[in-house]
Amino acid sequence: LVVGQMVASLHSRSVGAARRRISDHQVASDLLDAVADGEIVPAYQPIVDLRTGEIEGVEALARWRRPDGELLGPAAFIDDAERTGVVHAIDRSILAQAAAQVAAWHEASLIPGAFRLSVNLSAHHLAEPDIVASIRDVLAESGISPACLVLEITETGLVSDPEGIACRLEELRGLGATVSLDDFGVGTSSLGNLMRFPIDAFKIDRSFILGAEGSDRGRALAGSVIGMAGRLGLSSPVAEGIETEEQRRTLVELGCARGQGFLFSRPVLAAEAEELLRRGRCPIAGG
Ligand code: C2E
Ligand code: MG
Ligand code: MG
Ligand code: MG
Repeated sequence: LVVGQMVASLHSRSVGAARRRISDHQVASDLLDAVADGEIVPAYQPIVDLRTGEIEGVEALARWRRPDGELLGPAAFIDDAERTGVVHAIDRSILAQAAAQVAAWHEASLIPGAFRLSVNLSAHHLAEPDIVASIRDVLAESGISPACLVLEITETGLVSDPEGIACRLEELRGLGATVSLDDFGVGTSSLGNLMRFPIDAFKIDRSFILGAEGSDRGRALAGSVIGMAGRLGLSSPVAEGIETEEQRRTLVELGCARGQGFLFSRPVLAAEAEELLRRGRCPIAGG
């Protein structure tokens, strides 16, 4: 009986795995079709000078524009894309579209020379060598300088093959791009990652911004993280998820110069982003 149960359970497990493979295959091919059909598009969220609201750059964030007009956020498809490996096609497509858009904004004199484009790069398979050539080619095609590009990498992806990843990050920096650790401080080895990986900057996770308003300790912690960036010789960090004027003021007091969040603007499609860029800044209280 026990053996029978084991066989039955093994059988149902392999059937489950096979079904998952078939449905993963379908998911992957739907996502690849969406990329090929131009349904995966970047939304842009301004990154601003927290003292003035001046727009210093944008982060491109993937959206799935369904044929019926619905706009899906990454929560609806990025996990599937990571699991099936399609995330690379998405990352490359978002980079290509956003780089072409930034080149057009430059052409129209809507943005200054130092304007920076941030894109998210999945760390899955970041160790693979051809990623560098692929990013270099996409940039060359768009005509924007690698010095304008910030590659955001989330800490959660930095688990396997750290040597390979470190090597690739070094090559990406060699192109002239900036490497930034996304969602800094919420991973399991944030400080270790600063030691292990050649990075230029980090983005302070929203939980620190919420914490800084909550308590003296939260404020001290956020202040320490901001101060640490300076002491490590990293570029000034970007604070994520700023929603209130109070949070903006607190961050300025703690010495944080740059940030993004709904207070300034939600991520918006290109046409709306262009309106923001025409004004050059996001209004802030008293600014
Ligand atoms: P992320 O890179 O940390 O991006 C910031 C997320 O915070 C965005 O969510 C943005 O809409 C949201 N956000 C911005 N300001 C605020 C705020 O004031 N309050 C709150 N509550 N949220 C705010 P989104 O667009 O849903 O993206 C989620 C995540 O999906 C991104 O987090 C990034 O890890 C991933 N992602 C987005 N686009 C891409 C992509 O093209 N490639 C890859 N590999 N991942 C992507
Ligand atoms: Mg990001
Ligand atoms: Mg982030
Ligand atoms: Mg985040």
